[in-house]
Amino acid sequence: MRIKEFGESDLLVSFFTPHKGRLKGVAKGARRSRRRFVNCLDIFCLSVLEYGLKREGDLCFLHSGKLDDPYSGIRSDFTTLSKASYMIELTEILFPWGVADEKMFHLLKESLGSLDRGESIEKISIIFELKAMALGGYGINLDACCMCGRAYTGQGVAVYKREKGGIACLNCQQASAVFPKMGSDTVKMMKTIQSRSSNIMNELDLTHEMMKEMNSILKLHREYHLGMRPKTADYLE
Ligand SMILES: [Zn+2]
Repeated sequence: MRIKEFGESDLLVSFFTPHKGRLKGVAKGARRSRRRFVNCLDIFCLSVLEYGLKREGDLCFLHSGKLDDPYSGIRSDFTTLSKASYMIELTEILFPWGVADEKMFHLLKESLGSLDRGESIEKISIIFELKAMALGGYGINLDACCMCGRAYTGQGVAVYKREKGGIACLNCQQASAVFPKMGSDTVKMMKTIQSRSSNIMNELDLTHEMMKEMNSILKLHREYHLGMRPKTADYLE
């Protein structure tokens, strides 16, 4: 996720693991000797690392590593690179040090893979964000009106209400720029994305209209509920 020079010849590496979450470790002598770490310590790459952890919460020691996939396609243009940076940043916000979530690891891994293969950037980013927020405990409640409690039957327009992090019916809340509306197809698609276990993006058919509605909701949702704007969100917009 991040690499920093450390001391004279070491590297300070923060990385995301399936079973221990986000960790930080020192790769001793990594800048001089490339033998133990051949191209595997770079941002966005998927690597198999051998490391030791003395105590939970401490810096760990990286012994060696092997590159699995460099995702070189991510570095091919600026937009792709920015999206990947944004995904890393959102993961850091949602998953503090040592908070493990295997599903999040696979979501990140497969989203970076989709970016690498040149699939639709807008689609990948919406799916990633919706799923990551849901895994981090910030899913959007799409089951019922957040005000009157009436169950959403999958028909008609719904309005997103940021204070509640969920949808409201038109009787309870009129649509506006602050309370954007979404069609039933959009609500259903968001529900599917949030709850599905597969990370394969190609299977989902997101129309331009759905993505437009989801983008305005996600922007409000992330700004209100994460209590901060990810740094990379600004220039992505
Ligand atoms: Zn209602």
